[in-house]
Amino acid sequence: MTTMDYDVIIIGGGPTGLMLAGELALGGVDVAIVERRPNQEVKGSRAGGLHSRALELLDQRGIVDRFVAQGTRHHSVAMAGLILDASDRPSRFNYTLGLWQEKIERGLAAWVAELNVAFHRQREMANFDVADEHVDIGLTNGSRLRCRYLVGCDGGRSLVRRIAGIGFLGSEPQASYLIFESSMPGEPPIGIRYGIRGLYALGRLEDGRVRGIVTEERIEQGDSPDEGDIKAALTVGYGSDLGVHDVTWMSRFTDAARLADAYRKGRILLAGDAAHVHSPVGGQGLNVGLQDAVNLGWKLAQVVKGISSDALLDTYHTERHPVGAALLDLTRALTALNRGDDHTTALRSLVTHTMTMGEPRKWYSAKVSGLDIRYGPEGSHPLLGRRMPDLDVETEDGPTRIFELLRDARPLLLSFGARKCVAPEQWSDHIKTLEVRSESVCELAGVGIVKLPSAVLVRPDGHVAWVGNGRSDNPAEALAIWFG
Ligand SMILES: Cc1cc2nc3c(=O)[nH]c(=O)nc-3n(C[C@H](O)[C@H](O)[C@H](O)COP(=O)(O)OP(=O)(O)OC[C@H]3O[C@@H](n4cnc5c(N)ncnc54)[C@H](O)[C@@H]3O)c2cc1C
Repeated sequence: MTTMDYDVIIIGGGPTGLMLAGELALGGVDVAIVERRPNQEVKGSRAGGLHSRALELLDQRGIVDRFVAQGTRHHSVAMAGLILDASDRPSRFNYTLGLWQEKIERGLAAWVAELNVAFHRQREMANFDVADEHVDIGLTNGSRLRCRYLVGCDGGRSLVRRIAGIGFLGSEPQASYLIFESSMPGEPPIGIRYGIRGLYALGRLEDGRVRGIVTEERIEQGDSPDEGDIKAALTVGYGSDLGVHDVTWMSRFTDAARLADAYRKGRILLAGDAAHVHSPVGGQGLNVGLQDAVNLGWKLAQVVKGISSDALLDTYHTERHPVGAALLDLTRALTALNRGDDHTTALRSLVTHTMTMGEPRKWYSAKVSGLDIRYGPEGSHPLLGRRMPDLDVETEDGPTRIFELLRDARPLLLSFGARKCVAPEQWSDHIKTLEVRSESVCELAGVGIVKLPSAVLVRPDGHVAWVGNGRSDNPAEALAIWFG
């Protein structure tokens, strides 16, 4: 038998790679991260927060408090310049947590270190070869590593995706933007304005300096803008360069939106920006990367541990590829609404007016927060495929809540009725089975109040794989599909 250095190697220790490493370690997998950066320092600010579902994922693993303690809660959500109330989201996290990406990464890196994940820092993947039973990875320093599965969490320019020959198609950029951190004298026009081609936004950083996003006159590519480019774009948007100086960080991005054709190709998997790139509008990328990681982690762990056949990994593509496609469409729509021509201004007014109404607002709030995700078609019960809400429950051992029961990333079979639903013998070691009492209803984002079924099978990622009907509750078929 071939000797492996690790079961799984993750290329890229950004947010997605870190989350995936933690999930795999919880699943008992021998996993390593290969990362070219020496630490989690993030150039510039990049992502600015965590939405409700991402916070729930961290809560499911018992680590959310360390993030919440450092961030700022915003019980609202922005849409095309409108601030919508989000406080009625049916989640313990009825807010978006303002927290810069570097702090998110540092929190995840600390968790991964506690789980003893091997971290090859300042190491860069150069190439890899896939064989029947393994993947051989070549690093730029000449050393080689062997693993059973390789996951590319290596960002939008993913080398893993390119070497694997996975297509990355989508829409060409309609505009390019500059993001920067700088000083500006006096009282700059903090807030949002719309130019013909797109958005201009200025905000204050914690230290009083300014973080700006400006649309460029022409679509520029390449990530090497200079201060002159910022001054030119400011002049178009504001009539002057606003005295911008001391630019400490600047970066260019476009609204090009691309999606990997396949999230899996044999022993190679993609997650996070490696699988989807798009405009940062709506603050989605990091959050969706964490969701990818949590969907993939338990499946890959089960395959590596021999609990499931490797066909389970195909469900990672089946479930997450549509989420990626919807993400691209959301950012395309939000980008389009940021143009300032007469027609778009009229459309924005119509859309934002609609969004002030109760149901559209709740629908949008559920969508951007990730709380509305359902895997698979609508089933016999609204919970099927959706996230299990974090209900307070009474167990034999006292009160707890569902997310606490998910801490060790094991599947849960919960009976709410008088009759306990038990997993057949062959699954009893792997599945946690509990009889619980709770309220008889729950609220689902984007759906409303629903009656709880007699029993649920909850996957380690918190999504419901099966619901009982109170008559002939037998989860064997679902257990066979999801847990070997
Ligand atoms: C201006 C801006 C604002 C944003 N705002 C938000 C926001 O508000 N909310 C949000 O959710 N998202 C936001 N995003 C998106 C977010 O930053 C990304 O979606 C997120 O960083 C993706 O995480 P990742 O781990 O998939 O990829 P990355 O963060 O790109 O991490 C990839 C890692 O792989 C490493 N790597 C790459 N190639 C190799 C190699 N060959 N060998 C070894 N290591 C390698 C890199 O060093 C890097 O650490 C924003 C992005 C930008 C640019």
